[in-house]
Amino acid sequence: MKVFEKAPAKINLSLDVLYKREDGYHEVEMVMTMVDLADRLEMQELSRDTIIISSQAGYIPLDEKNLAFQAAKLIKERYNVHKGVYIHLDKKIPVAAGLAGGSSDAAATLRGLNRLWNLGIPARELMELGAELGSDVPFCVMGGTALASGRGEKLEPLPSPPQCWVILAKPPINVSTGEVYGKLKASEIEHHPSIPDMLQSIRSGRFDLLCRSLGNVLENITFELYPEVRQLRDSMQRMGADGVLMSGSGPTVFGLVSKFSKAAKIYNGLRGFCKEVYAVRLLT
Ligand code: ATP
Repeated sequence: MKVFEKAPAKINLSLDVLYKREDGYHEVEMVMTMVDLADRLEMQELSRDTIIISSQAGYIPLDEKNLAFQAAKLIKERYNVHKGVYIHLDKKIPVAAGLAGGSSDAAATLRGLNRLWNLGIPARELMELGAELGSDVPFCVMGGTALASGRGEKLEPLPSPPQCWVILAKPPINVSTGEVYGKLKASEIEHHPSIPDMLQSIRSGRFDLLCRSLGNVLENITFELYPEVRQLRDSMQRMGADGVLMSGSGPTVFGLVSKFSKAAKIYNGLRGFCKEVYAVRLLT
């Protein structure tokens, strides 16, 4: 028995931090959506009670540090499954990029093993399991577009945003999400993105308002650590993207573009100096 799952990348259209909580997490408000750039997971049942991970990508851990491994271990333990699984990760999402690649792999593993082993776990319960693996995992289990609060695990589904081209560009640096949040002083944030405007733009399908409402309070911290991320954002803006933002804690910057001809021009322009550039659509 074998199952396949797609694990799409997420982008943050809004990322706001309200305050630092007593448990050390930040209380956030985020609007997240998915793009059509995805890892592909193949899960095959093994009669031996073990979890084996493989991937064509040489740069991710294949042991218990891999989030897909952790997801498989969690589901096996919680539902008393004494079978094994071989999981192959065909990685397409850049790693440590702010695109939740690992979280999406974990979510796809939960969904896939629920099917492979006929466990009948309801979506809500899968999302709760996901929250034990990471703050972004419940959203990746749910998919679509959502307003996330709490530490990211409380989700309110939203309609799909207006369709557009999404140009993703990742400079060749790895950003630690922990380091960026560690440097954030929530009480000193000067400019908070307007989440109500973002919600209105999505609900009314207004692309212009959506582009104007993009905002991420982590941008300035990552820009200070890595000025090349700011330069990349400025370049995309200059090239004429309708809206530009850094995703998550970076370093991936995305540009939203309504016209194909402009998207092609930006894609080709960026490929001149950035190795990892993708032109995709929103996953609506
Ligand atoms: P986020 O936006 O949630 O912070 P990210 O896109 O910045 O995530 P990931 O690609 O998920 O980051 O990788 C973060 C770290 O997790 C990497 O250092 C990587 O070694 C590790 N990791 C564990 N499992 C995976 C996986 N399945 N795919 C990619 N990275 C993984």
